[in-house]
Amino acid sequence: MTAWNAKRIEELRSLVVAGWIERDIALELRTSVKAIQIKIARLGFSALRPIVREEPTYVPLPTLAPELVTHPLARKYPPLNVRLGDAEELQCRWIIGDANGADTIICGQPAFYRSWCPYHHVVGRLHHA
Ligand SMILES: [Zn+2]
Repeated sequence: MTAWNAKRIEELRSLVVAGWIERDIALELRTSVKAIQIKIARLGFSALRPIVREEPTYVPLPTLAPELVTHPLARKYPPLNVRLGDAEELQCRWIIGDANGADTIICGQPAFYRSWCPYHHVVGRLHHA
């Protein structure tokens, strides 16, 4: 077992932050994968791992009336194209494109305790007026 001095711990930390997998870190620091796993767990470094997110597939906006496309809020709240399965509680649920279960793409802008962001709130009200 290799001794963990401050320098090695800092190396480990920066490799974890850089998104290296345990096997590669073990090779780099010349120790076992197990030793790396234990050290990462003990130091709480797993929380430092970069979040790997798949790029959302671009989904074009459904065709909207020109007055809605040019609405000042349209530019302020561009859809973030969030996967419904990844959406958090207060994100706009306006569906972009087709409904497809957890893979449905939604707007995702802050919804401010409504179902929709301010822009889609306007769109929804005008649609259903
Ligand atoms: Zn929205």
